[in-house]
Order: sequence, then C-alpha cells, then structure tokens
Amino acid sequence: MSEFDIREEKADENDKEIERKLRPNVFEYFFGQEKVVENLKIFVKAAKIRRESLDHVLLHGPSGLGKTTLANIIANEIGAGLKITSGPVLDKPGDLAGLLTNLESGDVLFIDEIHRLSPVVEEYLYSAMEDYRIDIMLDKGPSARSIQITLNPFTLIGATTRSGLLTSPLRERFGIRLHLEYYVAEILDRIVKRSASILQVSIDANASFEIARRSRGTPRIANLLLRRVRDFAQVKGTGNIDLNITRYALDALNIDKYGLDQMDNKILTTIINKFKGGPVGLNTIATAVGDDAGTIEEVYEPFLIQEGFIKRTPRGREVTEFAYKHLGIKLPNTDHSLF
Ligand code: ADP
Repeated sequence: MSEFDIREEKADENDKEIERKLRPNVFEYFFGQEKVVENLKIFVKAAKIRRESLDHVLLHGPSGLGKTTLANIIANEIGAGLKITSGPVLDKPGDLAGLLTNLESGDVLFIDEIHRLSPVVEEYLYSAMEDYRIDIMLDKGPSARSIQITLNPFTLIGATTRSGLLTSPLRERFGIRLHLEYYVAEILDRIVKRSASILQVSIDANASFEIARRSRGTPRIANLLLRRVRDFAQVKGTGNIDLNITRYALDALNIDKYGLDQMDNKILTTIINKFKGGPVGLNTIATAVGDDAGTIEEVYEPFLIQEGFIKRTPRGREVTEFAYKHLGIKLPNTDHSLF
C-alpha cells in the first residue's frame, strides 16, 4: 500500500500561497455544482436588492469540494468582509463574542467544521444568528451579571463534512442549506486546465483529463496532483505535461486508476477478505478498518457508491464485481446450481 495519502498531505507555506492563487473568487470560475451556484446567485442578488444581509448558509459535503471557496465568493460578490474560523478553534464563548462584535454590517463569518463547536459556544451562536445579539456573562458567582450586546447584521456560513453530527437547533437556524456533490471528470478537467494556465504550465488535453479522472471527484486533489505532476514534468521531462509523464507521476505517487486512496481500498479489501464481499453492517466495517462509522458513511462511502464499488442493500454494504476487478481479486464462485 502507498505511503502517500493525498488527503493527508499537509500544505506548506508555498502550497498555501499557490492554493490562494488557484481559488476562484467569482461565481464565473467556480465550475460545476450548478444547482448550488444557481441558488446562491439568486439569494445573493435578492439580498443585494433588499440591502439586507444574506440569510445564514450551511454548506455540507466532503472536504475539498469548494465550501471555503464558496464562502469567499459569496463575500466577494456581496462586497462584504469575510472572517474565517473553525469549530474546534472557537472553544470559549469569549472567542466567539470577540469575532462577532468585530463584524461590520453585512459581513460574512465562515465557520469551518461547524459540527465540532462546543455546546456552550453553540448556545451563544443561536441568539447571534437569530436576533443579532449576544448575552455575555460578566464576573462569576454572586456578582455575576449579564450584559446584552447588539451585533451588526451578518451572514454565518457554516461548513461541515458531517451534517449528521449537527444538532437540529443549529441546523434549523440556517435559512439556506446546500449539499455539495463530488465532481465529474469533465468539470475537474476544466478546473485542472484553469489552474495550469494560472500556474503557467503547458498541459496536453489528455493529460489534464487523466489528472481529472484520478482526483477522487475532488478539486483540491486535482489541483494538488497537477502540482505534483508538474514537478515530475520539470525534473524528468521537458516541462510540458503530457499523458506519459502524467501516468508515470501518478503511478509513482500510488494514485490508483480511479483516484481511490488508501482508506478507500482498505474498506474494499476488508469487505472482501473478512466478510466475503458482504453484505456487512456499517459498524462492523468501521471496527474492522479502525475508523468511526459516521466518517465512513459520510466521507468515504458516497464516492465508493457513486463510482460503483459498493452497493447499499437492506442487509448491509456489499462490494460489486467491479471492486473485485479493480483490486485484481478473483470473484468467489457464486454458482450454486449444483446444490
Ligand atoms: P473545502 O472548503 O470544501 O474543503 P475548498 O473550498 O478549500 O474546499 O476547495 C479546495 C480547492 O479546490 C480550492 O483552493 C479551489 O482552488 C478548488 N476548488 C474547489 N471547488 C472548485 C470549483 N468548483 N471550481 C474551481 N476550483 C475549485
């Protein structure tokens, strides 16, 4: 198995700088997710006409599909400021209060991984979202008193990979809830081409499509692979990214033909080797691969189902013939006609 997990890759400073360059900041360059974009464009326009702040937005979907990018675009299109934070960082109500009181009218506050907010912070968020006010407790014990602070109207954009972990009071306070889907290769191909032109690297059409096809339906992975393939092209080739150097680089990085990563393949081989291909329950799979059931269900499984490696059946998860073929494992003999 590969040592290289593209989703675990930590971005260094240079990577972050490049990521900033590649991140679209207008709807026009945010490719795919047509329904989500159509809806958002209308809501943004309506809010602008009414000169009101946009309703709170919840974006749900796997990592790397464009949630932070959309928050940037929304703030930019509204002409408002953007503050970015994340659930685990906001561990005290004071942190949240500090952020909220600094927002100007119409500003956008983006909270990534909003399902990881602590319950006390979440409580504070309710009145902030609903009435644009927060009650802050001053002092402790007998002298404790609370003061109410009125906030400027703002838009909260929450992002989550695990919508199932969101409490319903929080979920219900978002007027706009949108789900992002994995991208098809044709759209990722457009993203790779645009990124290549920003990075000023020349890339052949079939090479760009190869990267798109092997990016696990995820723009962040597509951009990352493009940069890694560019390194190979510069060191081992002529600088131009052609199909040969792309295949060579992606194979060297252990990116499989369908872009599946280590965990995806581990889930498939576990179902095949330990549970005869299924059907097997989600919790059993989770224990066997050492991850939690919710993560498997919301992060890994959707892509494996979409690409036809796994089926959901009433009795549990089953791998498909396609998964056996992909892993080069012989299908068990399913011919029961002798019995
Ligand atoms: P998330 O917040 O969902 O984890 P990001 O918004 O950080 O994902 O997206 C990762 C990268 O992928 C961004 O830097 C951006 O360049 C690129 N990207 C994501 N979605 C799109 C899109 N629809 N069109 C073009 N580029 C995209």
